[in-house]
Amino acid sequence: MAVKERVFSGVQPTGNLHLGNYLGAIVKFVALQERFDCIYCVVDLHAITGPIDVWGGPDVLRQSTREVTAAFIASGIDPKKHIVFNQSQVAAHAELAWVFNCVARLGWLNRMTQFKEKAGKDRENASIGLYDYPVLMAADILAYRATHVPVGEDQKQHLELCRDIAQKFNNDFGESIRARGWGDAFFPLTEPLIQGPATRVMSLRDGTKKMSKSDPSDNSRINLTDDADTIAQKIRRAKTDPEPLPNEEAGLEHRAEADNLVGIYAALAEISKAEVLREFGGGQFSTFKTALSDLSVAKLSPIAAEMKRLTQDPSYIDSVLAEGAARAEAIATETMNAVKDIVGFIRR
Ligand code: ATP
Ligand code: MG
Repeated sequence: MAVKERVFSGVQPTGNLHLGNYLGAIVKFVALQERFDCIYCVVDLHAITGPIDVWGGPDVLRQSTREVTAAFIASGIDPKKHIVFNQSQVAAHAELAWVFNCVARLGWLNRMTQFKEKAGKDRENASIGLYDYPVLMAADILAYRATHVPVGEDQKQHLELCRDIAQKFNNDFGESIRARGWGDAFFPLTEPLIQGPATRVMSLRDGTKKMSKSDPSDNSRINLTDDADTIAQKIRRAKTDPEPLPNEEAGLEHRAEADNLVGIYAALAEISKAEVLREFGGGQFSTFKTALSDLSVAKLSPIAAEMKRLTQDPSYIDSVLAEGAARAEAIATETMNAVKDIVGFIRR
């Protein structure tokens, strides 16, 4: 049976949304609205997998959830044509994650690099939720039987796990799936959409680390809500090397910081890195950095202003989330009912 093409993706309401989230994820979310039915989720169940002092506790979580929702809308996501909601309002995510916990293998999860990075040295003290994060993510996607997931490069491994889970479920329950008229596969093997020049925006302080909400240094990232002076200052202070910019893309190899800044410019200007270097190659970083600041401010400040306007009306945002959740729930409940029948759970 042909599965309807559908896009799903999520952003955690943890800390400050940054340029990496914007270029690696949100810009893609906006573009995909033209071609697909899209479901964009503020993944609050994922947010609480970290330490409470990192995600900030109940009041901060509420505020961050509204802020990510505002960022979606301010960036151009249409919550009427598509679906925008927060994960915890649809119980199927957690419910399907349990079934998938029994499908996924320990050995698969033990290979996940995000857990290793986030748990750090103190692994014994990490939450079970942090370890199980990729299984919940598979449930998020497959509750809607989504076929395409736009994400940054860092999520590639989790998407592979999602496919492994779907495949094993389809195999383990193959007979039951066929008997219920679903053909050979109930879940699609979801495709990641990781494209463009900014699939992995790096920290401004360290070109080997990805820009992250959870980086303790605020200077490592450009937040969507930073004002023009802050953006200019962070870019001016961004780490570079003493060489001038190269004339060709090949010259960016082994120059992680230069490559990152050129990639950011390319993504914001919607041109290739080669085109950026045609304009700035051979020149000093200071000139390029000024142009990059101006471009960043021009692109981000209207979004920041709209986010500010939207977050001043929390009841409007909550109503968007509630309406989105009701529509999401209708789809996810259908999936869950089918899963229960396939697995053999008796239901009302
Ligand atoms: P955290 O550090 O708390 O995990 P995060 O910055 O990774 O936060 P997420 O909410 O986990 O943000 O990710 C939301 C989306 O943004 C995902 O699709 C992820 O792949 C993408 N993303 C995150 N960081 C980057 C980055 N530096 N460059 C490109 N895309 C990114
Ligand atoms: Mg992340």
